[in-house]
Amino acid sequence: MLAYQVEVVVAPMEQPLSYGVPSHLLPIIRPLSRVMVPLQKRQVMAFCLNAPYPSQTTKLKPIADALDDIACLPPELLAFFEKAAAYYQTPLGRFLEQALPAGLGKLQGQGSRSHKSQSLVELAGNGVWNEDFPPQLYIIRHILEQNGPLWLPRLKELFPRAAYWLPRMEKQGLVKISRHVLLRQISGEFIQPEAAPAALSLQQQAALESIRPAIVAAEFKSFLLHGVTGSGKTEVYLGACQEALALGKTALILVPEISLCLRLQGILQQRLGAEQVAVLHSGLSAAERYSQWVALASGRAKVALGARSAVFAPLANLGVICVDEEQDEAYKQEDRVRYNGRDLALLRGQEQGCPVVLGSATPALGTFYLACEGRHRLLAMPGRVYDLPLPRMELIDLRATPRLLGGFLSERLFAELKAAKSRGRQSILFLNRRGFAPAIICAKCGTKIFCPACSLSLTWHAQRRKLICHLCGCQRPLPAHCQSCQSPAEHFKHLGLGTEAVEEKLKELAPELRLARLDRDTAASPEQLGGILRRVLNQEVDVLIGTQMLSKGHHFPNLTLVGVLLADQGLNQPDFRASERAYTLLTQVAGRAGRQYEQGLVLVQTFNPQHHAIQAAVMHDEAGFYQQELEERRALGYPPFGRLISIRVEAGQEEAARQAAERLGEHLRQAVDKLRLRAQVLGPAPAPVAKVKHRWRYYLLIKAGNAKQAASVLRLGAFRLGAPAGVSLTVDVDPLQLL
Ligand code: ADP
Ligand code: ZN
Ligand code: ZN
Repeated sequence: MLAYQVEVVVAPMEQPLSYGVPSHLLPIIRPLSRVMVPLQKRQVMAFCLNAPYPSQTTKLKPIADALDDIACLPPELLAFFEKAAAYYQTPLGRFLEQALPAGLGKLQGQGSRSHKSQSLVELAGNGVWNEDFPPQLYIIRHILEQNGPLWLPRLKELFPRAAYWLPRMEKQGLVKISRHVLLRQISGEFIQPEAAPAALSLQQQAALESIRPAIVAAEFKSFLLHGVTGSGKTEVYLGACQEALALGKTALILVPEISLCLRLQGILQQRLGAEQVAVLHSGLSAAERYSQWVALASGRAKVALGARSAVFAPLANLGVICVDEEQDEAYKQEDRVRYNGRDLALLRGQEQGCPVVLGSATPALGTFYLACEGRHRLLAMPGRVYDLPLPRMELIDLRATPRLLGGFLSERLFAELKAAKSRGRQSILFLNRRGFAPAIICAKCGTKIFCPACSLSLTWHAQRRKLICHLCGCQRPLPAHCQSCQSPAEHFKHLGLGTEAVEEKLKELAPELRLARLDRDTAASPEQLGGILRRVLNQEVDVLIGTQMLSKGHHFPNLTLVGVLLADQGLNQPDFRASERAYTLLTQVAGRAGRQYEQGLVLVQTFNPQHHAIQAAVMHDEAGFYQQELEERRALGYPPFGRLISIRVEAGQEEAARQAAERLGEHLRQAVDKLRLRAQVLGPAPAPVAKVKHRWRYYLLIKAGNAKQAASVLRLGAFRLGAPAGVSLTVDVDPLQLL
């Protein structure tokens, strides 16, 4: 009998292994199939690298089982995964493993589990309306004409008796009722999606015209959709998806955060059909994630929307990839395997042959540079949809403002908050720090309360009455005494303030303002998040206080005032991206103001009114800012002019970490000499937070002319270090943060 074999990779191993394929598994094994294989005395999961082929030998151990009866990942993605794993210096098996949602389990195409579903009601064209129908039917018709298709619960809200009449209307062909698997419910209902615009603007049309040929030709091309805040980029993504679907292809849309998923999800489901769209993000339960993955893998759903890990969505025959807010650092995964979802989207487009649209009002400096160089085609949308000018921006110099209400609010900003309220408008107060107080200090001896595991002060969360470490997440009650001088707790003082304190103090200052707070504490789940967004959209909130979660992407039509409480955060960090971050954040949060009805106003409180990033944001001087930053980066050889790889060296003892880091530094420098590269090795230096979870951290940085050179230095240098006991190395290709 003919024997068959296949090559597989097992998570941490570099080298593929060969196994025999039992004949009953032959039909379902293909590249990227998940199988169980015997390894030493265990059975482990592995990914196949090829289709079974006739073997010369019968001595191979056979595969024990195949996990999936549908392709968990389309075979055509193999080349993409191979290149991605190589680029991020990760064994292929490990890379594949982390690409799948945790706990995916076996994948069965039938999808035997039952899912919650909901009815969508729309008017049908084939029924004949009759004079003597009861008036209720006309009411329902009127509502559907006004609103377009409606989910049944919404229709019942507008007309409670609808459910009674609908079956009859359906029978007579007056309405169409379709049941849709609910991909995600937010507090029992979706955020009401915005209606489709009557027509695309000229700049939206022009952008789509440029993208369309690449979709049709199934050709990789990268675009930078550079549209100011409120220029209507979403419609361009949507148009590109529609084009792909019309050609029988699939589409992938990435957003940086779950909060943006919720809005787009409603829009996509309404406009493309609820059953076409699957959502992938970490806010879903395991069962929901499973249903989404099966829907995509089996080809039932054709559009995947999600946060960074959705870049691995099981879509074959991909027509277009859109990356919204491409500059966002949330695209970077900072634990386990480190990758950038935006960069992988570009690689995926290249490998699967489809255009990639990177959208942003504030492109990353690197993306902007590539567009200038002609490597991304630039699609500019300089005007806002509602033809409103960008918001007016004003600085409030905190050095010249000695009295701040509640310790955080200038009188000017306070007056504008009340003025906005009196005109029936809404406002945002932005502060990129959650919790009540970022540190607690003993007023007697000056000792701060630190995390026992990390060298970072604990943040006081007043509502939960807990001290929380924002790095390791550990929580503890407020101690009764100062640890160093034993003074009782009444001598503790708050240092600085966070969003929780802003909310509480603003409540005291202006009880008439209706407040909501959006940060990781109040919006821990999609339901909570959806609830807050809905309250704002329903005009139940006058002032929304929040962290960077609210800085981008959202469209609150009635919001006209943005107050930035402290623009200086992060400005003086020893990081070459500090200015870029400050500029982007200010421009984005300012972009929430005045999007639909009237020009917005942005008040920026700062101690550094002269800083060039703040000046550039306030003057809307994008070109000047990018040029100056690019010149500085060029002079220093930083990205986009050079490439970086960081290596974090960690150990339980500080001395062990330092020594290992120094040795590694020597090996890396020798590698540079040996390879005769014009690369540089910087460090080791202690991490900005020197200890995290009881482990001490040191950093080394490889800086080279291109990615390949940086990678060769790493390979040669790290190989020679070996693996000292108790020391761990974490490699980060294209690092964004050194933490
Ligand atoms: P951006 O992402 O560029 O900041 P959005 O895509 O959020 O902007 O669009 C802002 C608003 O403009 C949304 O409410 C959207 O429905 C609306 N809009 C987009 N395109 C049009 C259009 N062609 N005509 C009318 N309204 C539009
Ligand atoms: Zn003390
Ligand atoms: Zn900690």
